[in-house]
Amino acid sequence: MTKYIFVTGGVTSSLGKGIISASLAKLLQARGFNVTIQKFDPYINVDPGTLNPYEHGECYVTDDGAETDLDLGHYERFLNKPTSQANNITTGLIYQTVINKERAGDYLGKTVQVIPHITDEIKRRITLLGEFGFEIIITELGGTVGDIESLPYLEALRQFRMDRGPENVVTVHLTLLPFLSAAQELKTKPTQHSVKELLEAGIQPDILVCRTEKPVTDDIRAKLALFCNLKTENVIEAIDADTIYDVPLLMLKERLDLRVLEKLGLQSRNEPDLKNWKKFLGHLKNPSEEVRIGLIGKYNELPDAYKSIHEAFVHAGAANECKVEVVAIHSEHLEDEADIKKQLKELDGILVAPGFGERGIEGKIRSIQFAREKKLPFFGICLGMQCAVVEFCRNVLKMKDASSTEVNPNTKNPVIDMMAEQKKIKNKGGTMRLGAYRCELKDKSIVKKCYKSDIISERHRHRYEFNNNYLDLIQEQGLIATGINPEQQLVEIVELKNHPWFVGVQFHPELKSTVENPHPLFVHFIKACIQQKTSK
Ligand code: GLN
Repeated sequence: MTKYIFVTGGVTSSLGKGIISASLAKLLQARGFNVTIQKFDPYINVDPGTLNPYEHGECYVTDDGAETDLDLGHYERFLNKPTSQANNITTGLIYQTVINKERAGDYLGKTVQVIPHITDEIKRRITLLGEFGFEIIITELGGTVGDIESLPYLEALRQFRMDRGPENVVTVHLTLLPFLSAAQELKTKPTQHSVKELLEAGIQPDILVCRTEKPVTDDIRAKLALFCNLKTENVIEAIDADTIYDVPLLMLKERLDLRVLEKLGLQSRNEPDLKNWKKFLGHLKNPSEEVRIGLIGKYNELPDAYKSIHEAFVHAGAANECKVEVVAIHSEHLEDEADIKKQLKELDGILVAPGFGERGIEGKIRSIQFAREKKLPFFGICLGMQCAVVEFCRNVLKMKDASSTEVNPNTKNPVIDMMAEQKKIKNKGGTMRLGAYRCELKDKSIVKKCYKSDIISERHRHRYEFNNNYLDLIQEQGLIATGINPEQQLVEIVELKNHPWFVGVQFHPELKSTVENPHPLFVHFIKACIQQKTSK
């Protein structure tokens, strides 16, 4: 019988529901349970694929090609298990399903309504994951209790608890205890109000997790318990942590996992096995080296836009026992050589980020030229790889007008061009080349040394790609295609000869880096940056 945990949020957004959910899942996994996490997003977009990164941070892509919320990245990084389309549901998707059914005549004769049709569809999506064999499913409800958009979800959760029986469902409510410096006190009132709001929707939270800057005293726990109908032990402190990776251990100390298991009538199968996790934390906190990496992107105002890249650097840094300082460099601020020199000269390596559209492209290309000529380790991801090809064609092959047709549709030398199958597509949502594709690695390449494998699988999200008409010309001059998709002969990786570390990849390696499996390309890139620094 599958057990269900719902995680709701109160008082404010950005309290870290994703991290709390992932940490709880990690602990349950460490205690021997097969657990997964899903995210419900109450917006009307069918998926976040059409959202600007400024709106919603990075769009996380799963193996099965779903464009999803970045919280799924946390789930994978913590659990070391892939997620799928079924792990991210939006209001848009729910309504689309119901409306399609209505058009098909499935509800013929009935008035289609929020209750029961929308709520039934929400409940169906919760149970869908149970069919994959998970014992415990954690469902994180996006947004904050009290939002208009959350109402159908809360109603579905209320019904779900009734349908399944309270012994099979736990509600964890994440809330904030603000610290008022004038009063030198943590305040419980906003939490009381937010629990009232939940109660109004018919939901009594079983466990309160309280985000706080200061320790939560016994008095405060008792007060919250009294006002929110809870046992004191079910008031959990979630104090600010140095890193998100400390949170599972903090939750272990607070016994969040045991409280949940108790509510679900489950016994821990073993003492939590967190050996690898602790080893990782040990390395993360005691680095013996330090490198500075420039992250060249155009969404740098919002670090969440490159969430998985930042986290992949954390994993790869720990694997090298090296602190990675990521310096965000705005590609629009790299207008001329003087800018480039000023901003890049103190760095041990650069990563040119993924992206869309024309803005900031020239700065990316200039920074790649600098890395190529000065033999600075370079890592290009997706658009970053495409820019590396353009740079090489312009400055080594002397094709001055070489470009991507995404940037210049009329270029005489479209060295990056829209994929043939993409040219027919009109709709924007969910139509890119998405998800996992295979890639064959060439012998004696850097990437083969990194992956230690002939064939790999990585996740994609793009419409444009290396134009094979230029392949021979480009390779002759030393930029080598070292990774090819065997089904369609697409160039997925380029590497520069006679350079310490110059690798561009059409896919997104950052999406597959986890605490227990740091991504080999990131690990080796950092290694190359350490060498670069030592040789300086
Ligand atoms: N805009 C480029 C393309 O669509 C790159 C996409 C990306 O960086 N994810 O091909």
